[in-house]
Amino acid sequence: EHLLAQRVKQLTPSTTLAITAKAKALKASGQDVIGLGAGEPDFNTPERIIEAACQAARDGDTKYTPSGGTVELKDAIIEKTKRDSNLTFTRAEVMVASGAKHALYTLFQAILDEGDEVIIPVPYWVSYPEQVKLADGVPVYVDTNESTMFKLTPELLEAAITERTKAVILNSPSNPTGMIYTEAELSALADVIKRHDLLVVSDEIYEKLVYGDAEFVSIATLPGMLERTIIINGVSKSHAMTGWRIGYAVGDKTIIEAMTNLASHSTSNPTSIAQAAAVEAYNGPQDDVEMMRVSFAERLEIVYERLIAIPGITCLKPQGAFYLYANAKEAALMSGYDSVDAWCEAVLGEAFVALVPGSGFGQDDYVRLSYATELKRVLEALDRVEDFITRKA
Ligand code: PLP
Repeated sequence: EHLLAQRVKQLTPSTTLAITAKAKALKASGQDVIGLGAGEPDFNTPERIIEAACQAARDGDTKYTPSGGTVELKDAIIEKTKRDSNLTFTRAEVMVASGAKHALYTLFQAILDEGDEVIIPVPYWVSYPEQVKLADGVPVYVDTNESTMFKLTPELLEAAITERTKAVILNSPSNPTGMIYTEAELSALADVIKRHDLLVVSDEIYEKLVYGDAEFVSIATLPGMLERTIIINGVSKSHAMTGWRIGYAVGDKTIIEAMTNLASHSTSNPTSIAQAAAVEAYNGPQDDVEMMRVSFAERLEIVYERLIAIPGITCLKPQGAFYLYANAKEAALMSGYDSVDAWCEAVLGEAFVALVPGSGFGQDDYVRLSYATELKRVLEALDRVEDFITRKA
């Protein structure tokens, strides 16, 4: 302990990891644990992409690449961004990283000085606050709730801005809530952002997982926003490629150049064959992406109806991603627990279902369930949760 730097001592231990560790231990002891914590598609990477990686390895694509990514992948990302958001970028405005997570990490290292504030809407993806703190920045939390569908509003944003505010993070579709900002909502936020001369970190990693009438819009497409938005995206969720570790940042050339310099001294470059796979992911036919989206959309309908039928649980219907974000306070109280954290622990220990407590996302009364698991298993898990509540009530 005395050997550790302050930097790592201040990291918040992940509640997700604690639950995962306990679930693993239970599994190892022979229990039939159903994990609803997964943050990744349950599909394997499409065959065409795997084939491209194998081919690349055989062709000698096994050497260092440029730090910010190969020309082929940068061009594929430029094409993809043009196709999907009608935005035109140059190679100097693209940086490929070892996953979107690493793109975000490098971005905060590149733009934050000590004390710079970054506005983070709550509930948030667990890594944002830690990454901001690791860059000596200060996370400024803005709580949201059902009344705005867990979305930041211009009023909430305005109230959180100070002289030290440098950036605001938007994640649409959102992990954990699955909510998506409409163009009108983004436009209203953009007015505040421009007035205060802020940067937007637009995490678009769930862009391809959008259901029903909802539509994905990038805030970078709105007037005056391109020059103040850094888009973060990648192949992890869209192409079932979490293990390949390819993500990227696109935006302001100066920021991208600084990020690339930083990466050149840490990772050197993302894995060469994974980059070749990502080229195929973006340039090849996208039917597999759509097939996975439709599968998630179908599961959502069934799982959502089942979830909200459980006593003590309320949940807004998500519009994207593959999570359900439910208020479980009442369910916890009914089962005899005064915190959702403790309830989650008991549900795991007694009903053998692993849920992620909302405390990890900044909201103690909620839980996050992933439905990126075989439908039958998700439904069985929900049966067990209901059973647990009614048995204890
Ligand atoms: N951003 C959000 C909101 C996520 O949920 C995740 C993964 O869970 C990431 C970024 C990181 O994705 P990657 O696997 O590309 O690092």
